[in-house]
Amino acid sequence: MGLSRRAFLEQLAAAGVAPWMLDECSRENETTSRTQSDEADDVSAAGFTFDLHAHPGEFFRRGLPGSDVDEAFKARVEDMAAGGMTSAFFALVADIAILEITDTGIRVSRLFEPGEAWDDYRRQLRQLRELIAVGSAREVRNLVEADAARAEGAVSAFVAVEGGDFLEGDIERLGRAYDEGVRSIQLVHYAQNNLGDLQTEPPVYDGLSPFGRDVVDGMVALGMVIDVAHASFTTVKDVADRAGVPIVLSHSLLNTPERPHPRHISADHARLIAETGGVIGLWPSGFGSETLDEFVDHTFRMIELVGLEHVGLGTDMDGNYRPVIASYQDYAAWVRALEARGLSKTEVARLTGGNVRQVLETVLKRGV
Ligand SMILES: [Zn+2]
Repeated sequence: MGLSRRAFLEQLAAAGVAPWMLDECSRENETTSRTQSDEADDVSAAGFTFDLHAHPGEFFRRGLPGSDVDEAFKARVEDMAAGGMTSAFFALVADIAILEITDTGIRVSRLFEPGEAWDDYRRQLRQLRELIAVGSAREVRNLVEADAARAEGAVSAFVAVEGGDFLEGDIERLGRAYDEGVRSIQLVHYAQNNLGDLQTEPPVYDGLSPFGRDVVDGMVALGMVIDVAHASFTTVKDVADRAGVPIVLSHSLLNTPERPHPRHISADHARLIAETGGVIGLWPSGFGSETLDEFVDHTFRMIELVGLEHVGLGTDMDGNYRPVIASYQDYAAWVRALEARGLSKTEVARLTGGNVRQVLETVLKRGV
């Protein structure tokens, strides 16, 4: 599906191109009202790239019986650096202990025991830290730290959790997670939890639950990125109405009649994210595309619907089903394909990290 270049330019003009995206433009065109800190941001933002959803080496399995992920983690982080991906949400999987991967997909095998979800969150966080300690990734909590890591050639790992199950209904734990470095929570995953309704289970709460509302309020107050991937349309609408800050949907695609999938989203669902000023991470799973070219079509479809400034990438790296981006070399190939199909380097830079950077600048507290 082709994209009108003019539509892009009009969108960019309407949105106002952010100052830090002007690396291709003449400096003389910049206004004199810009501050010294804007100038500093220009320098630090150039080359910033961000994967909204990644599980390098399936690190969340480390410490479970039969799981040896150390080499895979190390190799994936090196692949990230080589492919030009400078930072990502390294996502723990809150409900992994109760999920079963079958030939036909993922299913929930049982309920959590009391305390089990919190203990497993602690295990995964500890394991991720041990992996990072001996590898070339660096755990970061804000953009200042990410920019410092990038300057030294280290991949930035922002800690995220896929599923709010680990909170176990205790809002105090949200503050603890923040203090421990968690900077994003995807409210729901495959197991029905007590935050809100999912895309893949019958509704229980008609959107966000009362506890889910407390979590949204708490995340906004603390400065954490709210991720609504896997949430039902009604849950996303409740979050978007409530948050008052940009939110992300880290990994999905627009549904198509040819390849309908319960984890894909409608046009209205996508617009909810864009209307918050947030970003939708394109999801290169085999459910939506069988070739990189098809994934590029999906990229343009999303851009045409919500605008270039609301689109990013969530590879779901090493947790994805038959992905068409199976390495960060493939990610680099996607970048080249976007340029070959008519996007400028500045436009591509928005998709690969610039848009997410704006969300992080708005949501995260500076320097803490
Ligand atoms: Zn995931």
